[in-house]
Amino acid sequence: MIAANVKAILGELPPGVELVAAAKTRTSSEILEALEAGVRIIGENYVQEAADVFPAIGRRARWHFIGHLQTNKVKKAVEIFDLVETVDSLELGREIDKRATAAGKTMEVLVEVNSGREPQKAGVSPEEAEPLVRALAGFPNIRVLGLMTMGPFEGDPEDSRPYFKETRRIWDALKALALPGVEMRHLSMGMTNSWRVAVEEGATMVRIGTALFGPRT
Ligand SMILES: *Cc1c(COP(=O)(O)O)cnc(C)c1O
Repeated sequence: MIAANVKAILGELPPGVELVAAAKTRTSSEILEALEAGVRIIGENYVQEAADVFPAIGRRARWHFIGHLQTNKVKKAVEIFDLVETVDSLELGREIDKRATAAGKTMEVLVEVNSGREPQKAGVSPEEAEPLVRALAGFPNIRVLGLMTMGPFEGDPEDSRPYFKETRRIWDALKALALPGVEMRHLSMGMTNSWRVAVEEGATMVRIGTALFGPRT
């Protein structure tokens, strides 16, 4: 079932759009099944959950952190993850740089944009994206590689379209600035219900859980 789901979605994604398998709550055997079917990137929301499944999987996949990263979890996150998709403050960036430097590693990051401007949600407001990207670019052991957004809606995927459009506009503008130390390579947006709309709006990376693994129980 997982293998068939992975293959169907990989077959539908246009060239250049990468699939992140959003693996929260999934077991290592479920994740391995997805890898065998062609998944190359695992997304995890919790450092501890990633640490639990990591030994069975290791570097056969790339690891993206897609949850809210607390500063006291950064040290462990830097050990496991290749890329943090959800950087939304200078303070978090500073801690990632510090821990990455100590680990002799350069950490890839995306800036999370709160495209729906929802007060309770993570991410920087659209106006704050450029200043944060500029500031993060100053850290020696961080590479800024793009933007990520959730968008506010869980219902009709069409309702997400304006937020994906807005995030794409910011991404394009940052790309045009060609800031030193910044590469707008990834635009991560779209989940099970909204990934087709996200791809139409220029996502280069979609994060899909339910449509690969089935409903979370
Ligand atoms: C869970 C999750 C997803 C995937 O959600 P589905 O609706 O199961 O596809 C994508 N992005 C983030 C940040 C998530 O937490």
